[in-house]
Amino acid sequence: MFTRIKSAVAGFMGGMMPGGGYSGAGNPGSELPLKFPYSRPEFLGLSPDEDECSADRIARPILILKESRRLPWATGYAEVINAGKSALNEDQACCDVVVARRRPMSYCPPSTPSKTPTAKRRNSLPNGEGLGLHTDKPGEETEGLVFHYWALFDGHAGSGAAVVASRLLHHHIACQLQGNIQGPHRSLTRAISLRGAAGAPGSPCTPPPPLPPRFFTEKKIQHESLVIGAIENAFKEMDAQIEREKQVYNISGGCTALTVVYLLGKLYVGNAGDSRAIIIRNNEIIPMSTEFTPESERQRLQFLGFMQPHLLGNEFTHLEFPRRVQRKEVGKRMLYRDFTMNGWAYKTIEDEDLKFPLIYGEGKKARVLATIGVTRGLGDHDLKVHDSNIYIKPFLSCCPEVKVYNLTQYEHGADDVLVMGTDGLWDVLSNQEVAEAVTTFLANCDPDDLHRYTMAAQDLVMRARGVLRDRGWRITNERLGSGDDISVFIIPLMYGNRQP
Ligand code: MG
Repeated sequence: MFTRIKSAVAGFMGGMMPGGGYSGAGNPGSELPLKFPYSRPEFLGLSPDEDECSADRIARPILILKESRRLPWATGYAEVINAGKSALNEDQACCDVVVARRRPMSYCPPSTPSKTPTAKRRNSLPNGEGLGLHTDKPGEETEGLVFHYWALFDGHAGSGAAVVASRLLHHHIACQLQGNIQGPHRSLTRAISLRGAAGAPGSPCTPPPPLPPRFFTEKKIQHESLVIGAIENAFKEMDAQIEREKQVYNISGGCTALTVVYLLGKLYVGNAGDSRAIIIRNNEIIPMSTEFTPESERQRLQFLGFMQPHLLGNEFTHLEFPRRVQRKEVGKRMLYRDFTMNGWAYKTIEDEDLKFPLIYGEGKKARVLATIGVTRGLGDHDLKVHDSNIYIKPFLSCCPEVKVYNLTQYEHGADDVLVMGTDGLWDVLSNQEVAEAVTTFLANCDPDDLHRYTMAAQDLVMRARGVLRDRGWRITNERLGSGDDISVFIIPLMYGNRQP
C-alpha cells in the first residue's frame, strides 16, 4: 500500500495538480464526443491562427482583449499559457450580461444524459435558448433579472470540465434566479419593482401587498440570501450536470470556479477552489474570496473521514501527525490533530495510525488522499486514489463560498477595481504586490481610455509570468515566474451604477 501511495504522490506531485500528465480537451482514448470543443474564451475573438499561436508554451504570448472589443463595464482581461505542464491552456474564462426571465422553474430542468429531443434542447444552453435566456441588448426592455457575470475556471487533468463550466454555469445561475423570481414570496420580483431595476423604466414604485397573517413565526430572508442561495445551487447543478453528461460526452478532469455576479447594486463573489478575487479601493485591499486547500479545509475533510470511515478505504487515517508514523513508533507518544482541534496534543501511537494520512504535505504540496491539491471545484467524478477504488469526490466539494460587496455604499473612483486571478497569478504575487502594480499602472493611464483595464491586466500577467532567462522564467528580484496558466480580469467598480 505504501509503495502504491508513494508512487501516487510522486505522480501527482509532479503531475496532475501543478504538474504534467495528460491535458487534452477530453480523456485520451475515449470514443465519446466532446461536449464543447476546446477553445480560448469566445470574447477574445481569436482567429484560428491566433488560437494556435496562443498555445506556444515556449514564447508564452500574453493574450489580451482586442481594442476593437469591449466587455461590460470596460472590464480588462489578459491570459497566458503555462510553461509546459499541459499541452493546452487549462484555464477558461467567461464574461456576459444575462437575463433571467420570469418563467416557471419547470422550464429549466436539469439536463439528462440521453440523446433525445430533451438533449437537443440542452445543447442550446450555450446560447441560452433552451432556458429562455439571452444576452441583454442595450435599450431593450426586459422582464426579469439582469445580471452581469464574470468567471474564471482553472482545469486540471484535462480542460473538459473547465470548458463545459465556462459555457454553462451562468445559465445555471440564471435558472436558479428564475426560481427565486417565481418563489412564493416573490422577494426578488419586489426588489426589481421597488428599485426600477432590470431595465424596466417607469416600474411602479408601489409597495407590495402585505403578506397574510400567519400563526407561526417565520425567518425573514433577505434578497441577498436568495441570490447567494441561487449561486450555491447553480454550482451544485453544474457539478451534477457534468457527472450525468460524462456518460455521453467526453468531459475530462475537473476545475476550480471563481464567479462574480452583479445584481441589484451588489457584487456576489462565489469561489470553489484556489483562484482569488480582491477589491482594490482607494489603496485599500479587500479580500473577496478564500482559497480552499487541504490545509484550509483540514477540519471539514477530517470530520468527513471520521463520520464515514469507509470513504478512506481502510488505507488512510483521518488523523494528522507532524510526520509519517513508522512501525517502530507504535506504543510511543506522538503529537496529532483531530477534526475538533486547531492545536496539537499527544496520543499513544496504535497500528491504526500507521495508515497514510488523509491530508499530507504542506503549502502548495499538500494533498488530499495523496491525490489532489484543491478541495472544492467542479467535475472530477471519476478521480480515484492511484491504483485503488477510493474516490476523491466526497472530499472534493462543489459548494462555493459566496461573499457580498455592496457597490452602492461607496463612491468608487476610476482606479477602484476588482481583480480576479487564477492561482498562476497569486502563486507568485501577493495581494499587496498586485494592488501596488494595478494602482501604479492605472495612475499612469489616460482615465478616459477604456482599454486601460486590459492593459493593466496585461501588465499583471507579465509581472507574474516574467521573462525567459537561461534558468527559466524570472520575475523581479530574480524570483521564479509562474509556470502555470495565468488568467486575470480587472473589473472597474465605478460602472456599477452607470454604463461606460
Ligand atoms: Mg492554475
